[in-house]
Amino acid sequence: MNPTVVFSPHLDDAAFSASVPLTQPGTQVVTVFAGSPPKSITLTHYDRITGARSSHERYRERIAEDDRAMDVFGCAQVRCDELDDQYRDGPIDQERLFDRLEPFLKTAGEIWIPAAIGNHPDHVTVRDTLLDGLERRRSAAGAPTGSGADLRLYADLPYSIKYGWPSWVTGAEPRPYLDIDYWLADQMTRNGLDPARLTREVRRLSADARARKDRAVREYRTQLPGLGLDPAHTSRWDEFVGYEVFWRYDR
Ligand SMILES: [Zn+2]
Repeated sequence: MNPTVVFSPHLDDAAFSASVPLTQPGTQVVTVFAGSPPKSITLTHYDRITGARSSHERYRERIAEDDRAMDVFGCAQVRCDELDDQYRDGPIDQERLFDRLEPFLKTAGEIWIPAAIGNHPDHVTVRDTLLDGLERRRSAAGAPTGSGADLRLYADLPYSIKYGWPSWVTGAEPRPYLDIDYWLADQMTRNGLDPARLTREVRRLSADARARKDRAVREYRTQLPGLGLDPAHTSRWDEFVGYEVFWRYDR
């Protein structure tokens, strides 16, 4: 069976947002921006906000957190040494990045990509690099890379629950004076995604899947408070660990 490949911009995104495919046998996580901060960096603004004393020390902690979380899912992973937005000076050359990621696409049966809801620059880069690169290969002569694979965009968490999930996810009554459905659709289309190519899928995690995700995501303890995630805040935590949303992308 061809493997499922989940592209994770950072060390926590696959576990946070796409735990469903991580539990399938043979899934591989490819974490793109997992490079060690350069020597010239001592402590970045973001690492400082999350209470770090040194970006290098924080990086080592985050790698260890990610190892433990991936062990919970039991899936294989590869880390690329691209520099996270907070550790680099400028934008990424997307054609160069696609060349680097392309080998992971060749035998993939399913490809999972962040939808980049919330517009984090690293999430946008991973999405656009892969969608644009796959499109370029498709229009070029010869056998297109990853052409047989199902492509899915996953809703980035916790950014996607800025206002909570819409009622079509949870079944709860819509709240007055808040149109979450509009906000989420706007997030998807404002960066050029064509709604006609997207078919949404909602997963309410089973008790087992939810317990496993809960155990895995708690490993990212240096990141949870900075992202406004706290198991004691039960309604937001339930939205985070209880549901995932994906869009099948019609190529
Ligand atoms: Zn991220």
